[in-house]
Amino acid sequence: MKIQAPKGTKDVLPEESYIWQYVEDKFRQICKLYGYEEVRFPTFEYTELFHRGVGETTDIVQKEMYTFLDKGGRSITLRPEGTASVARLFIEHGFASRSMPQRLYYIISAFRYENTQGGRYREFHQFGIENFGSKSPVTDAEIISLSYNFFASLGLDSIVVNINSIGCPVCRKDYVAKLKEYFQNHIDSLCQTCRQRLDKNPMRILDCKEDSCRLIAKEAPKPIEYLCDECKTHFEALKGYLDAAGVCYKVDLYIVRGLDYYTKTVFEIVDVVADKKLAICGGGRYDNLIEQIGGGSIPGIGFAIGVERLIMLLSQKGLIPQKPQVPQVFIATLGDLAVKKAFEIARDLRSAGISTVIEELSRSLKAQMRYADKMGCEFSVIIGEDEVSKGICKLKNMKTSAEEYVEINKLSEHIKSKI
Ligand code: AMP
Repeated sequence: MKIQAPKGTKDVLPEESYIWQYVEDKFRQICKLYGYEEVRFPTFEYTELFHRGVGETTDIVQKEMYTFLDKGGRSITLRPEGTASVARLFIEHGFASRSMPQRLYYIISAFRYENTQGGRYREFHQFGIENFGSKSPVTDAEIISLSYNFFASLGLDSIVVNINSIGCPVCRKDYVAKLKEYFQNHIDSLCQTCRQRLDKNPMRILDCKEDSCRLIAKEAPKPIEYLCDECKTHFEALKGYLDAAGVCYKVDLYIVRGLDYYTKTVFEIVDVVADKKLAICGGGRYDNLIEQIGGGSIPGIGFAIGVERLIMLLSQKGLIPQKPQVPQVFIATLGDLAVKKAFEIARDLRSAGISTVIEELSRSLKAQMRYADKMGCEFSVIIGEDEVSKGICKLKNMKTSAEEYVEINKLSEHIKSKI
């Protein structure tokens, strides 16, 4: 059997890896601008964390986790998202005693056993933000503004920020009872999955993509109609702060998000590709998460951006920058003396920041030049034993084919002035 990459995974080749670096750099830059610092954490955790931190009733925990027993008989799960791990890290390292709020970001791979259609992968990547220690809507507006400006920095000007509030445990109690009653009366029109959701997580029916469920959901009571005074004030303040931060947004009463831990603000950022809505960022407030997994009463809010989808979007909109040329200079050598000199020249060029490769296969000069051309190098440096003894080299501009002799000790300066 031919061994291939597992279904739902993706190799990133050099033709594309520079795009990943590009979006990662942009994300790191915006995080820094908003005062966020990076955390790194394990790819796997004890399964219990996700049961408590993501929620028993979610699709992730019920159907999608990669869970196995390790050789010590412990149940291990490949992280299906980042928030639960960051919350665990926050508690484990006593972050509650640091000054609040804590502003953290991460760049991770995540694993979900999902259908692999529609831009869904089983191993995918996320950029995420978590803010712990602030209940204030100022924080909600700050992180939404961060993601909005991240997309803007990539040239995405047609994204839509959709916000909603799903209340807190206090107001949700009444609301969920009403909602259950409503859907119970329409149970025959709900899809199989939503019938199962009805008992444990009826809010999820509001964002089901099935036509029949959408029709019923349209007339269903919405969380926003049941908000308590505190949640209402929070949501109104958030809208005011988003206006102040210059973020364009829409209120979308159907967003509930898939995870159990959300409270108050939930949001999604979408773009439209080929008439289809594509969610590239999802987030919300989770004031009870830290407590749920064994920490103190510390509020939090965060979001995650899907990197594969983001790159797909950039490419469909023609927003991918040109690939930087690597390597820029090729050193062609004839004879062993020249090979040794090539190491010295390469060291010089590299310390001047010029990406340089040396001939490694002792090919004919013609073959070496063909290779340099194929690699797209801007210059070739050609040295034989004669040049080495004279302290010079031949410099060839690969685009114009113009050649000139340059003193080896002035080469890096000379090339720098031309690149
Ligand atoms: P979530 O953690 O489900 O809120 O997802 C946050 C973002 O991650 C979504 O908006 C997607 O862009 C992305 N995402 C989630 N699941 C997948 C997947 N299976 N494959 C690719 N991207 C995903």
